Amino acid sequence: MRIAVLPGDGIGQEVMNECLKVLNLIEKKYNLEIRIEYGEIGGVAIDKYGTPLPEETINICLKAEAVLLGSIGGPQWDDLPPEKKPEIGGLLKLRNLLRLYANLRPIILFEKLKDISPLANKNLKGEIDILIIRELSSGIYYGYPRALNQAEAYDTMHYQRSEIERIARLAFKIATKRRKKVTSVDKANVLYSSMLWREVVEKVAHDYPEVTLNHLYVDNAAMQLILNPGQFDVILTSNLFGDILSDEGAALVGSLGLCPSASIGKINLYEPVGGSAPDIAGKGVANPMAQILCLALMFEYSFKMQSISKAIWRAVEMTINNGFRTPDISKGKINPVETSLIGDQVCEYLKSL
Ligand code: NAD
Repeated sequence: MRIAVLPGDGIGQEVMNECLKVLNLIEKKYNLEIRIEYGEIGGVAIDKYGTPLPEETINICLKAEAVLLGSIGGPQWDDLPPEKKPEIGGLLKLRNLLRLYANLRPIILFEKLKDISPLANKNLKGEIDILIIRELSSGIYYGYPRALNQAEAYDTMHYQRSEIERIARLAFKIATKRRKKVTSVDKANVLYSSMLWREVVEKVAHDYPEVTLNHLYVDNAAMQLILNPGQFDVILTSNLFGDILSDEGAALVGSLGLCPSASIGKINLYEPVGGSAPDIAGKGVANPMAQILCLALMFEYSFKMQSISKAIWRAVEMTINNGFRTPDISKGKINPVETSLIGDQVCEYLKSL
């Protein structure tokens, strides 16, 4: 197995260190041969090479079977011209090069963390176990024309039929292995791109009669996620709406520090939903569980090793259940521990499985 590891900026290096402890253990425990190559991306790459995505990093990623990314960005690079910024010149460019078209974001509320969800004590109807499938290759983040000048600024939300069909098929296929329900989220009452989205999703649904489809406008979907998150199984949505709804989902389950994501394409990329968290970087308090759970997604989607994936989810849950929690999920209820202890504990529980 050949894996590219790009820790990036802010908390990226701290949480990646914990993730690599777990990967190291997995290699030994399951007798795997894992070859890791490290690359730089984002602000650290700008500081060193003058570009957020150096050629060397691109080559490492293109030769890998999977890419593990930390996070990128920070206030020190915010004033650069758009194309030189870590997010646009680094991450968006890399997503494009790896031809990533779908971003899968599991939103799962661990039983023992119910009391720290903002919905604690609200008689949650059903469990929260949602998979947000966000279109990643198109939409307003990539559409042209786009411009920014002193007088005006605009972006374009552009979707081709084929792009919608591709992501819709993936969503229905995945839903057949889950609770067989797809909620497609759009703004088809106003946006032309959403009108086409809805039409194409309806058409694809005919090929998956065992899956139930419903549609929600994004404003209602944002409300329903709070009122009754248990109603959702797979949420299928566009680049912009998925970006926003998944942070809302992260809040429901307690912290961005618990939410991993898998981006599917030519070479899959795995990264936490959250960013570089400059407010807590370097303090040893970042939650590395999202980064560790990226491994679970990598073993599920890239290497098709479901038992390893399940063991990682379980080891993280055991770590939480036994009271090893960073401040974001302690909420004054238990004494928090440092980032560096979490990877050690996940390894301990993983050994026991
Ligand atoms: P953020 O996700 O970095 O942080 C939002 C809040 O969540 C902060 O309070 C932060 O401390 C907290 N948080 C995030 N991850 C956490 C973790 N693992 N443990 C504990 N707390 C955690 O979002 P932001 O502050 O809006 O953005 C900061 C920088 O990150 C910006 O430069 C932004 O562009 C970038 N960003 C990068 C990515 C990415 O790399 N994919 C994604 C989103 C934002």
